[in-house]
Amino acid sequence: MYQNLLSDSRLYKLLFEIDQDLAAEAKAKGCHCGGRLDSARYRRKPRGLPTELEDQDDYKKRHSLCCAKEGCRCRTTPPSLRFLGRKVYVGAVVVLVAALRHGPTPVRIAKLRKFVGVSVRTVNRWRQWWRLIFVGTPFWKAARGLLRVPLDEQSLPLALLEAFPGHDAQSRLVCLLRFISPLSTSPPRQES
Ligand SMILES: [Zn+2]
Repeated sequence: MYQNLLSDSRLYKLLFEIDQDLAAEAKAKGCHCGGRLDSARYRRKPRGLPTELEDQDDYKKRHSLCCAKEGCRCRTTPPSLRFLGRKVYVGAVVVLVAALRHGPTPVRIAKLRKFVGVSVRTVNRWRQWWRLIFVGTPFWKAARGLLRVPLDEQSLPLALLEAFPGHDAQSRLVCLLRFISPLSTSPPRQES
């Protein structure tokens, strides 16, 4: 179910549109100094997109804003559902691949490599990121209290996906990406 989403170009289009909205909201709010925010997007070269989207522009820039006022010039990076902070792979892939219920068997990895070009080492690193790094973030420590039922942190991110109501995998994934989007605003130096 979640695996089919990986290659669904409609999902990636939707996430792009949500990011446009989040950027417009941040721009409308303006800088904390009262100054106007201008677009100052970052170039990104994310991996993991379905092949038919690789040549499109939707994922080549990350929204970012810069204050126009002399002496401030503060940068504001709106939250994103496309990019998960510094990760090279798009956020949806980092969630979906790590959520595969039975972990990375050789056959499954071969399939994933075909879909998203990911290696077993990367998959293991993502699973570790969810279970060791993510659970230690101040974001998660504050946010887990907002969930109705406590989660088994060793089953992340699948347990979190399934904590969201929704009739289908796509709406749960979008909820999850929106929920963790405060984590997406770290500076854009890339890491895998
Ligand atoms: Zn400012």
